[in-house]
Amino acid sequence: MSEKVKYDLVIGSLLHNIGKILFDDYKSSYENLKIYEELNINNQDILDCIRYQTYEQIQKSNLSPDSIALISYVANAIVSDINDIKKEEFKDEDFDKNTPLYSVFNVLNKNNDSKFYKRVILSQDCGINNPTKDEDDNGDDFFQKIRENIKNIISKISLNTNYINNLLLVLEDNLSYIPASTSKEYLKDISFYDNIRMTGAVSTCIYQYLLEENIIDFKTFLFNEKSRDEDMFLLYSLDVSGIQNFIYNISSKGALKALRARSFYLEIMMEHIVDSFLERLNLTRANLLYAGGGHCYMILPNTKSIKDKIKSLENDVNRWFMKEFAITLYIAGGYRACSANNLQDIPEGSYSDLFKDVSSEISLKKAHRYSADDIRELNKHNVKEEDGKRECSMCRKIDKLKDDNDDEHLCTTCYVLKQIANNILDDKYFIISDKEQYERIRLENSSIGEALRLPFDSCLVSLNDKEFKKLKDSNIKARFYAKNDFSSDETTSRVFIGDYRAKTDNKYLKNPTLEELAEKSDGIEKICVLRADVDNLGSAFVSGFRHMKQKSNLARTATLSRQLSLFFKFYINDILSNGKHEILSKNKDRNIVIVYSGGDDMFLIGAWNDIIQSGLDLKKAFDEFSQKTLSISAGIGLYDSKFPINIMAKETGILEEYSKKYEKDGKTKNAVTLFDESNCYSWDDFEDFVLNEKFNLIKDFFEKTDERGNSFLYNMLELLRNVKEKINIARFIYLLSRLEPEKNSKNYEEKISIYRNFADKMYEWIESEDDRKQVITAMCLYVYLNRKKQSEKDGGKNNEL
Ligand SMILES: [Zn+2]
Repeated sequence: MSEKVKYDLVIGSLLHNIGKILFDDYKSSYENLKIYEELNINNQDILDCIRYQTYEQIQKSNLSPDSIALISYVANAIVSDINDIKKEEFKDEDFDKNTPLYSVFNVLNKNNDSKFYKRVILSQDCGINNPTKDEDDNGDDFFQKIRENIKNIISKISLNTNYINNLLLVLEDNLSYIPASTSKEYLKDISFYDNIRMTGAVSTCIYQYLLEENIIDFKTFLFNEKSRDEDMFLLYSLDVSGIQNFIYNISSKGALKALRARSFYLEIMMEHIVDSFLERLNLTRANLLYAGGGHCYMILPNTKSIKDKIKSLENDVNRWFMKEFAITLYIAGGYRACSANNLQDIPEGSYSDLFKDVSSEISLKKAHRYSADDIRELNKHNVKEEDGKRECSMCRKIDKLKDDNDDEHLCTTCYVLKQIANNILDDKYFIISDKEQYERIRLENSSIGEALRLPFDSCLVSLNDKEFKKLKDSNIKARFYAKNDFSSDETTSRVFIGDYRAKTDNKYLKNPTLEELAEKSDGIEKICVLRADVDNLGSAFVSGFRHMKQKSNLARTATLSRQLSLFFKFYINDILSNGKHEILSKNKDRNIVIVYSGGDDMFLIGAWNDIIQSGLDLKKAFDEFSQKTLSISAGIGLYDSKFPINIMAKETGILEEYSKKYEKDGKTKNAVTLFDESNCYSWDDFEDFVLNEKFNLIKDFFEKTDERGNSFLYNMLELLRNVKEKINIARFIYLLSRLEPEKNSKNYEEKISIYRNFADKMYEWIESEDDRKQVITAMCLYVYLNRKKQSEKDGGKNNEL
């Protein structure tokens, strides 16, 4: 494929509708293209993509039958869910700047709501943009600002992949909260950005398909009804399995740092794999439908050469995984060919079938991972005690090991990860290059240390601000990445990463340890691990919009997945530094570290009481964000900071499973399990009944009456737990009576009234199984919160109450 045409087409498609945003009078903007020429666009192909907006225009024109403008027109119609591309009139398309972007969650999973978003430019401190019903009247100023930003990037036009990726970022920041159309009702919850991005993706697919099929008369082919059933596209998915084992199965000192470094390494590896695939397939990030949590979806051209390349790329990655990590990591890909009609769910159900078919292909591959050749290859790398190979003391891989200062014997990856963990977690920038470029970088920059290896013979190095500036200005051939950064340019891509970590005096702790986090807790000096993910996310993706008449699937899926990525990779940082729930902890900046957050799942670790409160914060924030169309289930485990972290991970995973099985009054999931399976609640029950009702009553009583000490509570707990034996109810009542204040004590009147209220409630609660269970959890939390730290020096076991 001609490189030039490729770039013309993507840029032309991305800008196909941009006139609606840039000019008040939309129609004259495409009839009179001078304004684009003033912006430095003099490429005829791109101008044609912008000019031809209606079928009538195309009919009247003398466009050559192989003009790419025909493709961008058809691609836009497919993405905008227009069935008859000949009839469609765009004349009513003057863009109404006062119409906001409606929330995609209004219609997800049969929801029926009418919230919308404030107009915001995505930026470092834009905060969470939740759907609302409050009017937002900054339309004019806002449009003026985004017009400037967009004109600015357009005027720098340049025909290469870097420019396109940068253009995508600028369009994302400025057009995320603008509707795709203000005159077509069904497009009002799809963001303008996702609509044009998908137009870019579909255009390139069509173009590559036409070329490979030797179709030179685009017009006759594309405007023939039959082409809508032609399988021009592939829905492709990649899935890396073994991520959890790779991150958590370590046994080592400095475990938290190692865990975070491994998690970060995998996150970047995934970005790198996606970018490398797209680059080698001659595509851009426009074709990436979704990436996160070790999975991704792409929309690709259905051509033999693409299918061949995919196969060999997957193979390359797996060979590399075998060499570096034996069988810990494995990548499986699957695709299904589909037509424009399928993307628009014609016949009905065909769009969700695409996803189902792709995921069953991936499952099949996972079940038959290795060929005979692969196994020979694996054995070659995994021979023990040959050439002095031994087991790595961090990840247990068999390799030639490096001796570390701390008497550890580490494989190359673990060794380098350990060396650079500090930098990689704190530096904002990093660079990925081939080996040759890396050697050059190292030669010219003495401060650059060892590199982490990545698939496709690449090297990853993190950079501080100074190193980044210097290297960016050099002529190094590499991809630069900036973490959570909004000032990216042509040389630098952005990655969102949930990287919140505990703060002191408003500054992030450099490298918090589990011991430090435990020390920061109130009461008992322990840590909690929280693992959580979104309930039924797969089915929301596959069929969450199935009930709609005009689904506009591709763009709507893109809008939904991007919103979720923003929440779990970016907004989460904000949520953890603005703590809201305060019954167990008043810290606004939570003493928590994100080990992993992305895709749809989270692994957090921190001061026990901050973790529990943040669980509620995140649940509440996600409810508001998703308008309760989606929910989260979590497991929270309580541990001594010296407990092996791999076992914490495993056990908390089991607690999360309990929450996934939660069922009460016909409602399922949307739950949290604390410490062990006996404390499994819906989030609402946990907040309303365990914390607000019972914990607060217990706290009030013990704070306002004479301190009876924890031993009293222990006895009560013991009886409550064994209440099935009748005698224990009697004992419990006796114990309660001993709490009655003495008649001649100070403030007797007040105390006796608090006591009576407490005792009445307790009599009532002991009779009901639900209440009793909630009282037990509330008492445990009260005891933990009030236990003196000194008594904690016995090195205690986990979950002891
Ligand atoms: Zn290792």
